[in-house]
Amino acid sequence: MEPLPTANLFIEGVSRPAQNGKLFDNISPWTGEVVGQAAEATAADIEHAISAARKAFDETDWSRNHTARHQAVTRFVEQLEQHREQLVTIARVEVGAGVGAANLFQVQGALDGARDLVNAFASVTWQESRGVREFMGSNTERVVTREALGVVGAITPWNVPLYINVGKVIAALLAGCTVVLKPAPDTPLMGAIMGELAALAELPAGVFNVITSSDPAMAGEMLTADPRVDVISFTGSTAVGRRIMAAGSVTLKRVFLELGGKSARIILDDADDFPMAVMSSIAVFHAGQGCALPTRLLVPKSRYQEAIECLSLAYQGFEEMWGDFDNPENIMGPVISKRQQERVMGYIQCGLDEGANLLHGGNRRPDKGTGFFIEPTCFIDVTNDMRIAQEEIFGPVLVVIPFEDDEDAIRIANESIYGLGGYVVSGDLERGKYVANRIRAGAISVNGGMSIIGDLPFGGFKQSGMGREWGPEGICEFTDLKSIAWSVV
Ligand code: NAD
Repeated sequence: MEPLPTANLFIEGVSRPAQNGKLFDNISPWTGEVVGQAAEATAADIEHAISAARKAFDETDWSRNHTARHQAVTRFVEQLEQHREQLVTIARVEVGAGVGAANLFQVQGALDGARDLVNAFASVTWQESRGVREFMGSNTERVVTREALGVVGAITPWNVPLYINVGKVIAALLAGCTVVLKPAPDTPLMGAIMGELAALAELPAGVFNVITSSDPAMAGEMLTADPRVDVISFTGSTAVGRRIMAAGSVTLKRVFLELGGKSARIILDDADDFPMAVMSSIAVFHAGQGCALPTRLLVPKSRYQEAIECLSLAYQGFEEMWGDFDNPENIMGPVISKRQQERVMGYIQCGLDEGANLLHGGNRRPDKGTGFFIEPTCFIDVTNDMRIAQEEIFGPVLVVIPFEDDEDAIRIANESIYGLGGYVVSGDLERGKYVANRIRAGAISVNGGMSIIGDLPFGGFKQSGMGREWGPEGICEFTDLKSIAWSVV
């Protein structure tokens, strides 16, 4: 495994180490060993990044010159595209993605999404005439303008870091905001590389800044508390999202939250190829570390036994298809960290304690390497009130729950504090769409349709968050509306 370059800070157009020169280790999930280092930002570095972003917003025409800004962000996206291979390497080595997952969703999905955002810019209305209106005997002409919100603190997690960094940074920059990006401590380089590429794209100094830190909370807390930051766009756990919302309320910040999920995949009894629909439900993509992955599988009680047999076959067949750093088809590697491995193993024990039965897996897998491997795991005999059915595990763990009929499936799917994704499979499209409409979540796929893609809005219902990313809606999320009126004769 090749060593990774050092992740520098990127502040006011300059890629540099932390003020005190301190570094922290970048650990690869595949080996648990140090593969690189990252700058340990001090409070003074974070302060510098915030003031640089503030200055760039207040003292340049970045937010007002739509054409120049769109050109600059397009150059930025071109740089991302030109460095695709480097991004794939980071997704593999630092994020722990299997080659298949690194190429597909981790990088190509992010690049396609970045293009989608650049293209969506044309559909944003920056100024709209509302005509003349008579009020108490005099006439007023009005326009409504759309303006950037200001300085954005973008706080991101480690699971699909490029995709999430792009969804926030590219959209906020296109909106005319300036940005301080704070990537997760486990994936600093995927944030830092964006600083390097912003420099190559000649983005104006201060418009985009990146700060890395091994302290999970310090930089994010500074961004959330600072009155010079107008917006916090956060993706991460619901627990931290709650904390950010509370802390942001002191300065009445705009807070966008993309949080956890426990999405249900409902396979109706008339699914065209029922065995295949069930077999493709195993929760293995990126070791289950995806916020909107279907981690609750709902199958009809009338076909429960058949479903279990299909799952058993699918898991056995998958055994040789994961955990190999070099296999181009692998879509599953280790989980991100020792901490995450412990957390997931804790949930597996919890499932056993709650009385669910393991159909497959349930163990650490040191035979796959010295890193943080957990085998694909499936619990059956699960009821929806168990913790393993209600709480986000964020590992390769699927729970299987039987349902009586469509109404029962909808009830179970909705019986969750979360509402991020949903999946329905049916031989009758109208029946599938009806069920989809009844699920209270932000993105629903019917019969394999792709509901999470760069030109569609994405975000959560309920405690999965608030606000929308991607598509023109994702750009507009970083803007506000202003009404200007003048009297006319
Ligand atoms: P996390 O909440 O622990 O951390 C997310 C980010 O917040 C990190 O950068 C972290 O350093 C920072 N942070 C931690 N404490 C903070 C604080 N007190 N103030 C400010 N920032 C703080 O989440 P994670 O473990 O990195 O990521 C996994 C979680 O992210 C899962 O819950 C997953 O569902 C969620 N997620 C959601 C989406 C979505 O779009 N809804 C996408 C991906 C991941």
